Amino acid sequence: MAHTVPETSEFEDGMSAKQLFQSGQGITYNDFIILPGYIDFTPDKVDLTSSLTKKITLKTPLVSSPMDTVTESRMAIAMALQGGIGIIHHNCSIENQANEVRKVKRFEQGFIIDPVVVGPNALVRDIFEIKENQGFSGIPVTENGSMGSVMLGIVTHRDVDFLNSNSLSMPVTQVMTPRNRLVVAKAGCTLTEANKILQESKKGKLPIVNDQDELVSLIARSDLKKSREYPLASKDNSQQLLVGAAVSTRDEDKERVKALVDAGVDVIILDSSQGNSTFQLQMLKYLKFNFPGLQIIGGNVVTVAQAKNLIEAGVDGLRVGMGSGSICITQEVMAVGRSQGTAVYKVANYAKEFGVPIVADGGISSVGFITKALALGASTVMMGSLLAGTSEAPGEYYFADGVRLKKYRGMGSLNAMDVNKSSQARYFSESARIKVAQGVSGSVIDKGTIHRFVPYLITGIQQGCQDIGACSLKKLRNMTYKGETRFEKRTVSGQIEGGVHGLHSYEKRLF
Ligand code: IMP
Repeated sequence: MAHTVPETSEFEDGMSAKQLFQSGQGITYNDFIILPGYIDFTPDKVDLTSSLTKKITLKTPLVSSPMDTVTESRMAIAMALQGGIGIIHHNCSIENQANEVRKVKRFEQGFIIDPVVVGPNALVRDIFEIKENQGFSGIPVTENGSMGSVMLGIVTHRDVDFLNSNSLSMPVTQVMTPRNRLVVAKAGCTLTEANKILQESKKGKLPIVNDQDELVSLIARSDLKKSREYPLASKDNSQQLLVGAAVSTRDEDKERVKALVDAGVDVIILDSSQGNSTFQLQMLKYLKFNFPGLQIIGGNVVTVAQAKNLIEAGVDGLRVGMGSGSICITQEVMAVGRSQGTAVYKVANYAKEFGVPIVADGGISSVGFITKALALGASTVMMGSLLAGTSEAPGEYYFADGVRLKKYRGMGSLNAMDVNKSSQARYFSESARIKVAQGVSGSVIDKGTIHRFVPYLITGIQQGCQDIGACSLKKLRNMTYKGETRFEKRTVSGQIEGGVHGLHSYEKRLF
């Protein structure tokens, strides 16, 4: 059934995307609304499969931003399990970043690969401390106190709970269950096999050891009970989760890319706030030559001219956005940037001719904005603030005025640039003697776990697509380019009307 009327008709309603952006005014997500189309399917049928790069496809079009308050391995694992992807930040040493990538690539559901481990010199007091701070027991003891070292035993709460205070300075080796009385499984066993051994042994933890009797992972009975299916998970051909990592365009980061590739990274993001530079083009050419199989996302760009240069140099994806991030003061300080709606539409409209997908980066403050970005031609959406309050984001929660918060800061904020030079590279030149901040540092509200929040986003996008009448993201983009998706600008009062208004007070619970 036809659900639009031709543009030439006297009954023409709304605008095509082309008409919406014709005026030359910068348009943000909030400045427009999408008109409803025709529904002939249920929302759960909406297919959100979309390209991240020329060669990587995701079942969920969501990407977590390479920021040190957003994406390390925990976030990247959770995002990949939910069908999206996380990009590990580079505000740390090469070794740390490669390690975070490795943790994602080695992740196997149910297997804990970085548990707390102690050495033979640890005391009972240390075990109590770990238990109090991290809330678990069943701690492996290995020869050098870390993973990959020979297994000596396990200390469980049963070994320490009834000890009196005189025992606090006793070495753990005196109270632990020693290796010869431990039930273990061999590396390479499946989760089902390990589960069976756990059930038969009635233990809480099952260490997995290799042929040299070195500890390679651990399985916890409590985790097995909660383990669930992730049908959307983003995986490579060897069934490992997909992960990305960001690097700067400085020469030293050629080493960083090598370490990341050795760790198994699937996609590299060249992290510049203004990507149309000789530095990025040189880095891009170097990487394409030396790592021909590696997928590379260039950026950031907001204009067709910027995109053209990077596309010609061979990028596999483009990251779009300048000055639209929630923590960003680039437009205010540099006087340069672009309204995000316009940037996404203009760059996506051009890049589609070359098969280069767009990541709409920054300024996403609600699920509706994700749907708007996708309707303007983006293939995926990158988020910082929306994800920084989840339990998988780095950092601890804290309370202020009775509200549970997490810290969230721009990578161009002075605090972030103080940590490591890598973050400085994105926002100002090495030679500059005075730092000019392009971001602020703040906090965001607790959003619970990614495993509840991302399914909420997915369902929200599916419902938005249903209202528009698009049964897939591919269809949504086609409808936009054919002029079938109809848009309308919103006046200021239109925007007020579209939000909650006229109430004395209200509670906004989203999911
Ligand atoms: P958000 O999702 O609106 O919070 O925006 C996140 C995006 O803002 C990131 O993916 C970066 O592109 C961008 N960004 C991160 N840190 C800064 C900064 O300090 N200044 C400007 N932009 C930033």
